[in-house]
Amino acid sequence: MTERILLATTNPHKLDEVRAILEPLGLRVDGLDAMPNLPDEPVEDGDTFAANARIKAIHYATATGERCIADDSGLVVDALDGAPGVHSARYAGSGATRAERDRANNDKLLAALAGIRRERRTARFVCAMCLADPDGRVIAETEGAFEGVIADHPRGHNGFGYDPLLHVPDAGCTSAELDPEEKNRRSHRGAAARAMAERIRASGS
Ligand code: IMP
Repeated sequence: MTERILLATTNPHKLDEVRAILEPLGLRVDGLDAMPNLPDEPVEDGDTFAANARIKAIHYATATGERCIADDSGLVVDALDGAPGVHSARYAGSGATRAERDRANNDKLLAALAGIRRERRTARFVCAMCLADPDGRVIAETEGAFEGVIADHPRGHNGFGYDPLLHVPDAGCTSAELDPEEKNRRSHRGAAARAMAERIRASGS
């Protein structure tokens, strides 16, 4: 029987990105939407991506009785002293839909960087992943980063979140202009998921 790992997200983009890397290992990856009863959300009050990934992985693994990977990610902008960082998802507040929140977040980021020249618009997506077992034990923790420069205006329609604003210099386009496979090859989540796949493979489970 194919072993299942729960991915603690309802974001279909994150699910696709992680599935593409873990399913070739023979693991079935399901998101929270596949659970018959969605557990309550934990309070993500960690100061770091790693701390929040750990909170989510332990919470959902113990609540569901299944091995669970949680990812916590966000955008770190050097000229803003690391903001929006762990507050990336709700940087501009909590709008009604994910698409509305993404648009408001991008507008707020562009306003915060108005007048700042390209050399000082360096930024990176960071992703921390944590795998916990149903007893709440942390089995593995990994991290990845995806470097770029914040563009002057959004470009591209792939992906989600701040993808239209992260210009990737050596690709000559934004993260939202990369096709999904290319984003996964380069991205913070791709790197964290590949490191996680390596840990799972090495543990033989
Ligand atoms: P999380 O769901 O708590 O990990 O929040 C992550 C937030 O960071 C998302 O809502 C996005 O705004 C941003 N983010 C994380 N990863 C990405 C990515 O791959 N592309 C674009 N935005 C991202």
